[in-house]
Amino acid sequence: APADLECDLLVLGGGPGGYSAAFRAADLGLRVVLVERYAELGGVCLNVGCIPSKALLHVAAVIDEARHLAGAGVSFGAPQIDLEQLRAHKAKVVGRLTGGLAAMAKMRKVQVVRGYGSFASAHRVVVEETGGPAQEKTGKRSTIAFQRAIIAAGSQAVRLPFLPDDARIIDSTGALALPSIPQRMLIVGGGIIGLEMATVYSTLGARIDVVEMTGELMPGADRDLVKVWQKINAGRFDRILLNTRVTGARATPEGVQVQFAPVQEGATADAAAPEPQTYDLVLQAVGRSPNGRKIGAEAADVHVDARGFIPVDMQMRSNVPHIFAIGDIVGQPMLAHKAVHEGHVAAEVIAGELQGKAELARAAFEARVIPSVAYTDPEIAWVGLTEAQAKAQGIAVRKGLFPWSASGRAIANGRDEGFTKLLFDASADASAPGHGRILGGGIVGPHAGDLIGEVALAIEMGADALDIGQTVHPHPTLGESIGLAAEAALGHCTDLP
Ligand code: FAD
Repeated sequence: APADLECDLLVLGGGPGGYSAAFRAADLGLRVVLVERYAELGGVCLNVGCIPSKALLHVAAVIDEARHLAGAGVSFGAPQIDLEQLRAHKAKVVGRLTGGLAAMAKMRKVQVVRGYGSFASAHRVVVEETGGPAQEKTGKRSTIAFQRAIIAAGSQAVRLPFLPDDARIIDSTGALALPSIPQRMLIVGGGIIGLEMATVYSTLGARIDVVEMTGELMPGADRDLVKVWQKINAGRFDRILLNTRVTGARATPEGVQVQFAPVQEGATADAAAPEPQTYDLVLQAVGRSPNGRKIGAEAADVHVDARGFIPVDMQMRSNVPHIFAIGDIVGQPMLAHKAVHEGHVAAEVIAGELQGKAELARAAFEARVIPSVAYTDPEIAWVGLTEAQAKAQGIAVRKGLFPWSASGRAIANGRDEGFTKLLFDASADASAPGHGRILGGGIVGPHAGDLIGEVALAIEMGADALDIGQTVHPHPTLGESIGLAAEAALGHCTDLP
């Protein structure tokens, strides 16, 4: 039967990966159809991820900052929080951005089809139309034929199977909906998402416990950065239970009663199982799983691995040469900026192939590094190798460290607890091509996330300590700490006021 719609490129999923790919492909002259089951474009990031969380974190940061000012002789009363208005504020922020995406799609003549897409073959997707706020299927189906496809169907929050179905046990989407400010809240999972939400809710007045299975908060980040974070946040949480897992929960009228058990490996004597605790709200932030098994990939012969990821090559091509995949669905790190860059690559390769433009067709995702940021208070940002990774890989590094207690700006801001740390290749062979170059960096302190981009650029450019140290940074700024950390690695005096 003929298809209802034909296109050069079908993009499945309208998140950061999908819309970036669709827009780039349309700009390059392709006829693009973008299939998204939700009414709004933007995916997890804009609707229930990066953006709403940052809208709330900004509010929390202003409240915390106002409290810090007491030491400077300025005090405010306790914040009056109108949850409904706060939700409306968050919705407005999200709406502005998703509305902008809809306009950009229209401007580029990207055809957005609302519905749930599944592959019917290697050249067709069937879309079941969805409608209404609950995204229910309306029963209407259409078939779209494509020359090329990009799968950008993202990921979803992992739910612990042994927790009961109860409105007080939520995931990050539920937490961002701000159902209430609980008196006692448990955050299950001490990674970035869990700790960002913990920051918001604690500032808004909740008493919080955090439980983490491994021996450390924010796994993946440099331990020195996390140490500073933990010290600053010591008073923020009631308890941080490391090497501990949640084994079950019982819904009671008083709250959710949660049971814990020590994790055997790494458990120390003092990590004996804590008593069960009762909470008003429990946030599960234990990771995200890719949507690879939910798109009918088998009908197109697209390989999906055991965890639900779609393996791709450097051009974002799956095992089926005309079907590509990008974003959370292709693997870690599950971050919006990675998805966007991958989306551009896939779109360029496809446009290049369809239009016979060899240079475009050679595009590849060759990022040396992808930065990570926890937008907590203080922020933690890192990129490239951490000291522990360098050690594990047997790479000799020279460290440059600049404590913010020596930064005029950090002191003026009343926030001098942070530091900036850079790692340079110190391999013995001085004639090796990478010798002396920057390998990684980490920053802890307010605005660390805004600063880390410079370190990422330095790594991409293959900069060494002299390049960074001799770059004139504006004074007094927090960004100056990057130049000064490089100077420290060179053994220069860095005590600039
Ligand atoms: P997604 O954003 O997941 O988009 C996939 C889209 O595909 C969705 O809109 C979905 O509805 C649609 N879809 C799926 N299957 C189908 C189908 N069969 N048919 C039709 N449509 C379908 N990342 C950062 O970089 N910075 C942050 O600060 C940050 N904060 C976060 C905070 C939270 C609370 C969460 C949960 C995530 C956060 N992330 C952050 C991660 C970020 O949201 C993801 O990495 C990013 O959204 C991935 O983009 P994507 O395009 O791969 O997929």
